[in-house]
Amino acid sequence: MKYKKWLSFLFLIPVFFIASASYYLLQDFGTYYEYSPEPAKMIKPAHLLDDYGYASYQPLVLYPMQSAPGDFLIIETASPFTGDELTISFDFPGTVSSIYQPGNLLYAVVAISYEASPGRYEITISQQGDENIYINTEVDIIDKEFRLSRFSMPASRTEGWTAARLAEDREKVRAARSTTVPHPLWIQKFIHPLDVRVSSEYGAIRIINENPPRRHSGIDLAADEGAPIIAPNDGIVRLAEFLLSGGNTVIIDHGLNLSSTYMHLHEIYVEVGQEINRGDTLGTVGMTGYATGPHLHWEVNIGQVPVNPEQLLDNDLLWIPPAYINTLIDSNN
Ligand SMILES: [Zn+2]
Repeated sequence: MKYKKWLSFLFLIPVFFIASASYYLLQDFGTYYEYSPEPAKMIKPAHLLDDYGYASYQPLVLYPMQSAPGDFLIIETASPFTGDELTISFDFPGTVSSIYQPGNLLYAVVAISYEASPGRYEITISQQGDENIYINTEVDIIDKEFRLSRFSMPASRTEGWTAARLAEDREKVRAARSTTVPHPLWIQKFIHPLDVRVSSEYGAIRIINENPPRRHSGIDLAADEGAPIIAPNDGIVRLAEFLLSGGNTVIIDHGLNLSSTYMHLHEIYVEVGQEINRGDTLGTVGMTGYATGPHLHWEVNIGQVPVNPEQLLDNDLLWIPPAYINTLIDSNN
């Protein structure tokens, strides 16, 4: 009799497992948030799905906590992916960096265009191959007001400019911004290239003379002619020459499809292909090209999409966890 009573408890074991598994699978992952110890980071639950529709829990680290048009959105996760045919997709205007996967970690930077409308959007990371796997989650883009400014430029500033030459310059810039390496070239945090006041904000809507409105794709930093401009981080120079509109221009590839651009320089001290270190002097402030006074036009792009450069300096936003750095150092030795 005693023996039988003990046996009946064995039935509780499968009951316990079925109950806990059902609880786990049926809970609404989408309404549950958890915050990591670092205030700027959010661990966001996501669904990991396979071809058979089997869903499981996959934590994603997304930061910063709030995204606005023109912002970076960083994605980190322990990668469940086995192949390298990976894509990150979403339906707001923007683009994504190279997907960096040292070990079993996945790191990517999404550029949200200043043209994105506020709202809730789905982001999907997918692997297409022998085994199709998808991770999806949602992100909210908040509203952001961009300043409207009007100013006039004397016609003499564009004397002798031709549409053909402008198109040639645009192509040089496009090509420079798409020349990259698939891993970060930086290890330390980004520093200011010219620590002075912002004279014109990123994303500002500008009406110059009677022309149709255009967006300001970077920030303007006003300083005296000749002030040194320094590299905010390590990288490789992809463009260093005079362009009609940009004047003396330098473009640095920081790897991972992230670049920074410096325009209207008085003098350029670097050349194409040169490896540069954080803190190196790139050139000096000037007013070459389409500029009314001496200033630096500083632009930061993921691929061709300009993002707010001030975010690069924002509290180690692009800091990469030590595991990545170790892998990077190992792969360079
Ligand atoms: Zn500018």
